[in-house]
Amino acid sequence: MAIIPKQQPYIQQLNPEWYQNNIATVDMLRLDVIDDKISGNKWYKLKENIKKCQQEGKGTILTFGGGYSNHLVASAVMAKHCGLKSIGIIRGVYDTDTPTITKCRQYGMRVVSSTQTDYKRKNDNGYLNMLSNKYDDAYIIPEGGANEEGRVGVAEIAKLIPDSYTHIAVSVGTGTTLVGIVNNVKIPVVGFAPMKSGSYLNDELRQYINKEKHKNYIIYDNWHHGGFGRYTNELISFMNNFYELNKIPLDMVYTAKMMSGIQQQVLNEKYHKEAKVLCVHTGGLQGNSSITHQLKY
Ligand SMILES: *Cc1c(COP(=O)(O)O)cnc(C)c1O
Repeated sequence: MAIIPKQQPYIQQLNPEWYQNNIATVDMLRLDVIDDKISGNKWYKLKENIKKCQQEGKGTILTFGGGYSNHLVASAVMAKHCGLKSIGIIRGVYDTDTPTITKCRQYGMRVVSSTQTDYKRKNDNGYLNMLSNKYDDAYIIPEGGANEEGRVGVAEIAKLIPDSYTHIAVSVGTGTTLVGIVNNVKIPVVGFAPMKSGSYLNDELRQYINKEKHKNYIIYDNWHHGGFGRYTNELISFMNNFYELNKIPLDMVYTAKMMSGIQQQVLNEKYHKEAKVLCVHTGGLQGNSSITHQLKY
């Protein structure tokens, strides 16, 4: 089956009040509108993986993620849509299903718990061969869709970005999305890691970045708000205020942290007055399911 977005992504200007007219413009590339479940960047990363799986004549995908992983839900939905079976290897053992795991099951994913020790072997070839043999000769997609197919898929996002911008902001998990963008645009990219000490990714990702682009990106980890998957009351208020001013929902794990970082940088005059920043909305709104009662959207 063809993989077509439900709605084409578009660029939306933010309300100047939000950045207090400190620079020329802050806009958002709305990848979240592509699909409510195969959201944002996951759509691009999975698309090429599904193609490869189909080319190899395989009928099952197998992938990895934590109990709140946007990638797992997107994989389950995409597989179902394309008539493939899906297996999700979950990091850790939960007594009761998280909302994310429930959604995965609803889309037919076979959910397999894994001890932390086994999960650490998620990139080890012997282990992957064993899993593939055990589960229907499955096509393996690494955690977060972080492989060459993922990076190729993400390159399409770069085509949506006009040259007129001076900076691109993107949230960074595995960094696959950042790499795909940096390699395919001339504009410098500012990455925001939502976990503590995430700036190690600056070095870690260099191997995937074209040589001439090595100076075109920087990843900050100052806006983790307590660590990966964690949040503060300030972050929740920030998300509600952002929604009231711009009518754009942000997710608590990734995009809200990025936007809090961008806002602070802009207000601290880190960018010149004529700067035009394009922030990539990478989706992930399903990750808000545990905090919906605190959100105004
Ligand atoms: C998964 C995810 C990311 C991280 O993408 P990477 O390509 O792994 O860096 C960023 N934002 C959202 C909303 C996500 O769901």
